[in-house]
Amino acid sequence: MDIIKFGIEKGLYPYMEHKKGNRVRYFTEELKQTGEFPPYLMKQLQREKLAKLLKHCAEQVPAYEYLNTPQILAEIEADPEKVLRERVPLLGKQQFKADPESYIARDFPRDKLIKNITGGSTSEPLNFYMSRYQVEHYEAARFRGLSWNGISYGSRSIMVWGNQYELSAQAQKKIALKDLLLKNRRMISCFGLHRDQMGEYVELLNSYRPEFLYGYSGGLAAFAQLLKDYGPEKIKVRLKAVLATSETLFDWQREIIKEVFGCPVLGEYGARDAGILSFSCPCGHSHITAENAYFEILDPVSYEPVEPGTPGILAVTDLNAEAQPRLRWLLGDTLVMEPEERSAELSRECGIPLPILRKVEGREDAILLATDGSLVHGDIISAAARDRIRIKQARFIQHTPMTATLMLSGDVDEALGKEFIDQIKLRLGADMQIELQIVDDIPPLPSGKQRYALREFDLKEIRT
Ligand SMILES: [Zn+2]
Repeated sequence: MDIIKFGIEKGLYPYMEHKKGNRVRYFTEELKQTGEFPPYLMKQLQREKLAKLLKHCAEQVPAYEYLNTPQILAEIEADPEKVLRERVPLLGKQQFKADPESYIARDFPRDKLIKNITGGSTSEPLNFYMSRYQVEHYEAARFRGLSWNGISYGSRSIMVWGNQYELSAQAQKKIALKDLLLKNRRMISCFGLHRDQMGEYVELLNSYRPEFLYGYSGGLAAFAQLLKDYGPEKIKVRLKAVLATSETLFDWQREIIKEVFGCPVLGEYGARDAGILSFSCPCGHSHITAENAYFEILDPVSYEPVEPGTPGILAVTDLNAEAQPRLRWLLGDTLVMEPEERSAELSRECGIPLPILRKVEGREDAILLATDGSLVHGDIISAAARDRIRIKQARFIQHTPMTATLMLSGDVDEALGKEFIDQIKLRLGADMQIELQIVDDIPPLPSGKQRYALREFDLKEIRT
């Protein structure tokens, strides 16, 4: 028996609920129930929560004060979705940053605001506040998703993580102990991943016997790759799942993780400033947390809703935001949702009727604009780089509709660079001015991420 799991489930959670008013378990149980709602009932629940949120914004949030008229309040009662769509502007990071204070609800106690911070991929960090109610709903969304896959609150896990690097040895020990006792979790730092340590890690897996592994897609894939070379047959533990979080999980990463650990690979899609937005079911669908988040998928140029099944940018409204609501928040990601009928069809496999996210295409600014006005996904850059093994790193930055820079590192010469450019010009247009820079190393962006493609201008601005 796993005594720590038993302790967490029978002792720690009830204690935190009783003493600290923690309601994660309660919200998880609630989500498990609403997660079985047929689509019409889920839509009704969303409308009710949205109406409540809009009314709260109208009455308490200075930035949304203009909604506080008898006429609009009546419209909110009648059709909150229409009010959101027609009366509330989309909210981007720059606009929010101009006056974040005006988004804080007047009736929310200042000392109960939970501060959070996020780094944009190219911009400086964003500071914002959340409420405990909101955060506990995020955690509950993750626990519900795990429960679909046979994993519960106290299940033993190993986290493959990268954040420990800057911490002192003592701080790391403290976190490790807290992790072990409170979360039944051990850590493996993906900064420290090295071939020579694989024996030690396999020993840890075999003796600790976790139910699941958890971490960034990139770190998990690197770990799986090293284990594959070391000898995956030496792993004697049968995991229930590997959970990849926080970054896009590429198909090749999913495959190698699945191959090495022989278990389902779950994906979680979310963001610090939006919560856990979707979670994989055992069939591999990515089901939206529709109770927490209201999605609008919009055309990146016109900002009009797109047809379901076609890519668009996400504007998300957190239905539990009460402290500092950000309505129609432009998260910066491009998504494809399954059309309703297709979603219903797929849901028959797993019995989970929540809407299905087909694909996260990536960052909105990874969409490039061709000179003929068509939109081209930045994947063409990573695909072109993969085809040429002499290239170590590549980054394409589109400065304006007609100009761009291509950076390449590795065993690269002018001829290879030119050939690369000729290939991408087939999609972006022969008349695009692309400057080639051959460099020793391409540094990560301020967010710490490596990106293949980046567009520096707003598509909306170039609309004619
Ligand atoms: Zn499913």
